[in-house]
Amino acid sequence: MPAIIDRDPVLIAVSTGGTSPALARRVRAWIEAALPSRLGDLARALDSARPTVNHALAAAPVRRRFWDAILDGPIAARILRGDADGGNRVLEQLAAPDGGRTAGVVHIVGAGPGDPDLLTLKALRLLQQADVVIHDRLVGEAILSLARRDAARICVGKAKGAHSWSQAGINALLVHRARDGQRVVRLKGGDPNLFGRVGEEVAHLRDHGIEAEVVPGITAATAAASAAGFPLSHRGIASSVCYVTGHGADDGEPDVDWAAAARPGQTVAVYMGLSRIAAITERLLANGLDPATPAAIVESASLPTERRFLTSVAALPAVARAHRLTGPALVIVGEVVRLAAAVRPQTTAARCPSPPRAVGIVS
Ligand code: SAH
Repeated sequence: MPAIIDRDPVLIAVSTGGTSPALARRVRAWIEAALPSRLGDLARALDSARPTVNHALAAAPVRRRFWDAILDGPIAARILRGDADGGNRVLEQLAAPDGGRTAGVVHIVGAGPGDPDLLTLKALRLLQQADVVIHDRLVGEAILSLARRDAARICVGKAKGAHSWSQAGINALLVHRARDGQRVVRLKGGDPNLFGRVGEEVAHLRDHGIEAEVVPGITAATAAASAAGFPLSHRGIASSVCYVTGHGADDGEPDVDWAAAARPGQTVAVYMGLSRIAAITERLLANGLDPATPAAIVESASLPTERRFLTSVAALPAVARAHRLTGPALVIVGEVVRLAAAVRPQTTAARCPSPPRAVGIVS
């Protein structure tokens, strides 16, 4: 019996010629992961438009180009996202003045915190289809190597001292590549929706008539909390989570309501906070946060180089100084950090540079 992948009306059978049912199941799982869940909807939408398309485009090569443009473009992306009106969208495209050549689609994809296993299935699929991957500096080789070998890779990240792309330059590049008919993946660390300037890129693409689809990813805060072994919320301890940036525009002071961040019963996750950790700590304490509140720094969460430091908020600057952190690091402040030792038995207490009440360092 072959293993069946059923995306009715699309049906795939896997056979190993009877040599190994276990292997057939494994191959089935690989293929399942590679196929969008709404593949059947896509097939039905294309089928409903087929008689009209066949009639309108008599020459087979023209027809083939039309279908390829539909499959590579925003219409297929929309149907796979759940747009039930797919057949009509195909017909609208047929009537479009450019004869079915679409303006392209850019997928703005979250790459997660770094571990390729934490990519979403959708991110992996899009990465493997992309003609060009335009990525930030934080996206590592382990993830980039999952793109097709012949895909172009362009790093537009900002590295200290190196040439860096302006946001306007990145926007223009996205439009240029999409207009060229390429399948463009804009790959961003973590979740593009958090501190990723995704709004500016989406607005620019839409202003230029190009569809943009944002694919969420696992953000650094959840990866860091999992790595350190504590939750971000916990009944009776933290009923809200506050995501803040430690950096404002032009590397200045961020526009953060520190009084709201310092509220009790809340967890604060600080992105891009390490280089300004002394000022951030000072703001939190000045707004009434107990200096003994537990805090964590997680560097390179989910990567082989991950390091975790558990301490108190007052000791954050000293811990950051003492351990010369070089990777991306997330700072989490709140009573939930105290749960780390209980949740993760291997967490061992170690000495912090004079914290008022340390809960341990793990590295
Ligand atoms: N969109 C990203 C955040 C971009 S801002 C997300 O959702 O995660 C960049 C900041 O994210 C870094 O300065 C750091 O604070 C944090 N960060 C990103 N990846 C990280 C990782 N693997 N470990 C710890 N912090 C990380």
